[in-house]
Amino acid sequence: MQRIVLASSNPGKLVEFNEMLADSGFEVISQGSLGIGDAEETGLTFVENALLKARHAALASGLPALADDSGLCVDHLHGAPGLYSARYSGGHGDDAANNAKLLRDLDGVPPGQRGAFFICVLVLLHRADDPAPLIAEGRWYGSILDEGRGTGGFGYNPVFLPEGRSESVAEMDAALKNRLSHRGQALAKLHAQLAERQP
Ligand code: IMP
Repeated sequence: MQRIVLASSNPGKLVEFNEMLADSGFEVISQGSLGIGDAEETGLTFVENALLKARHAALASGLPALADDSGLCVDHLHGAPGLYSARYSGGHGDDAANNAKLLRDLDGVPPGQRGAFFICVLVLLHRADDPAPLIAEGRWYGSILDEGRGTGGFGYNPVFLPEGRSESVAEMDAALKNRLSHRGQALAKLHAQLAERQP
């Protein structure tokens, strides 16, 4: 089985990726377990940051590397919080503060103008100087609620109402979320690319 390094220190993601890539011939190991720290995310787009993270991990490990970059883009805020989704309110990963700031920013904005989408970009580099990485993207469209609903999952789940659903992501069954979500869509596309012939 080919070992592949995941350019993330998030243990939840490691489990998810190992499950999704189980029959693709890859065993996913975390960069943290190899003593590799986080890359500097200096890109201006999700795909640039995913590439930077994957290249950093491939260079440091000498192994193929998989990276993901994700976030929430709100139409009325011209794509914010976007790349800064994890630290929108200042501190990194303070979900409650991030959600509170987002709801404040959209205070008084009518339902028809609260459109948003989650995005996830996955990049797989076969080696640090791979000129032809596999790239897969998923988008999950919906809108931002007036107030948070539910407690499941993480991040902006309580304030995001997916298109065609009556429950927020935080009220949704986790398996259903994984099927519908931006990350689930991107993983399914990467999986399909891996199933095709690769060098
Ligand atoms: P990262 O790619 O793990 O750095 O995630 C960026 C940020 O986007 C997270 O910290 C969350 O705030 C937000 N985010 C990304 N995916 C999701 C999701 O599936 N649900 C809720 N928030 C998300």
